[in-house]
Amino acid sequence: MKIPTILSFGALAAASSIDVCEKLHKHYPEYTVWDPLSPQGPESALNASMYRTARSEYWNGVNARNRPACIFFPSNAEQVSDAVKHLNEHPNAEFALKSGGHNFNAGISSTAGGVLISFNENLSSATLSSDGKSFEVGPGARWGDVYEAGAKDNKIAVGGRLSNIGVGGFILGGGLSYLSAQYGLACDNVIDFEVVLGNGTVTHANSKTNPDLWWALKGGGNRFAIVTKFTLKAHPAGVDGKVWGGIRFYSRNDRQAVFEAVSEFVRDYPDPKSAVIPTFDFGLPGAAVSNPALFFFYDGPTPPAGAFGSLDKIKPLLNTTDTTTYPELADQTGGGKIYGINAAARVNAFPNLDPKKTSELFEDHWKLYQDQIKNDSSRNIDIQIGTFTPQPVSVLIAKASQANGGNAMGLHPDHGDRIWVENDLIWVNPVCNNACPTYLKNMGDGANSKFDEKFKGQKPTNYKSGDVEFIS
Ligand SMILES: Cc1cc2nc3c(=O)[nH]c(=O)nc-3n(C[C@H](O)[C@H](O)[C@H](O)COP(=O)(O)OP(=O)(O)OC[C@H]3O[C@@H](n4cnc5c(N)ncnc54)[C@H](O)[C@@H]3O)c2cc1C
Repeated sequence: MKIPTILSFGALAAASSIDVCEKLHKHYPEYTVWDPLSPQGPESALNASMYRTARSEYWNGVNARNRPACIFFPSNAEQVSDAVKHLNEHPNAEFALKSGGHNFNAGISSTAGGVLISFNENLSSATLSSDGKSFEVGPGARWGDVYEAGAKDNKIAVGGRLSNIGVGGFILGGGLSYLSAQYGLACDNVIDFEVVLGNGTVTHANSKTNPDLWWALKGGGNRFAIVTKFTLKAHPAGVDGKVWGGIRFYSRNDRQAVFEAVSEFVRDYPDPKSAVIPTFDFGLPGAAVSNPALFFFYDGPTPPAGAFGSLDKIKPLLNTTDTTTYPELADQTGGGKIYGINAAARVNAFPNLDPKKTSELFEDHWKLYQDQIKNDSSRNIDIQIGTFTPQPVSVLIAKASQANGGNAMGLHPDHGDRIWVENDLIWVNPVCNNACPTYLKNMGDGANSKFDEKFKGQKPTNYKSGDVEFIS
């Protein structure tokens, strides 16, 4: 018996992908573009620029190095269904789904040699319903498209805090928004998913039809179906469209006061209309820049006194907060429209503890970053930015999620407050492509170890019940 080698499996996968591309190109020549460098490239040469754009527009440039055998740009659910049926005929073919291409993780929405189904080009419309109660959104839309669709009527959806992030991956991954303490995660605000199932059937998932699929898609990622349309709840945007927000930069010497105030804010959550994203950046080499920078938001033109608790008592070095509109705020820092940097990310989920303890944990985190940076001289040949972002996940979010039918994210209001710490590293010099993800892993593992050593098993703020060993 001939035992297939790994190489022959790879060759089989590549041949199968080409078979699927051939079928797609035959049925949908205007929607299927071959890799311009492949032997079939001349067949779709006129659309080669579509291939180049879709292949290169990834937040993480590591993905942009992958060359799909072809890219399929569907314009409706039936075409996606056909693609799924062709993929089923060639089960060895690899494929990937791309909405906004903003996921940090290498390979998650890109494929080397497989079939890429890209939604941004032809399935990205966003419209507000005539009664103003919901948005219909294609999976390839970016959040800026949705905010623009609601702007005239002062309506907003629970979505990304930056405009260039894709709707598809964001919602399916949960989606933490400035509006989450009021309305839950982005996924909690999906009224209906139009989907293509694994067998190619086009159907819907909502509270009445396929409710278990509706629940699973809310945070369950790409495992259960391909989404071809989202119907999202529309909410009032601030007051007459006016909201408040911006960034406050603090002295690095104030970081412990900031850590403590963030933890207090998560515990007390003085006003559900308020939100913050605390970021602690380390510009490398040498950590030359390392200032806390907090994004502030209030769902109204001016926050009332006390809306941010003791965060307001710490004097910033620079303050850009002002009355604005949601679309303008989502465009700050360029709306996150950056392509091609090399990036890696890891998330640690911690319980929010007593603010003094949380501050101690984040001080350990800060020092871990500093140590990583200073102990490696090879970093002097690169420009790198490391960031840790402790995102408040108050019990208010879990309550709002429950009120909307629950989701697959595992949050429960009785389990108390949490903080999701996002650790990011971006770098320029490809020489770090192997080492940098390892630095980041060490960072995340180091922070987990510090937590286990000092605080494991302690109850989070606003804890009511639940297995503390699991929660903490
Ligand atoms: C600058 C920046 C800011 C961010 N801000 C936030 C934030 O405020 N809150 C937050 O929660 N997250 C935030 N994120 C994380 C972001 O939500 C995720 O990276 C998300 O996956 C991006 O969605 P996307 O559609 O752009 O991703 P893509 O890379 O296109 O896709 C991500 C995943 O979704 C799957 N997918 C895409 N489309 C479909 C579909 N139609 N059907 C089924 N599966 C599909 C893909 O297979 C892949 O697994 C941010 C990321 C960046 C880079």
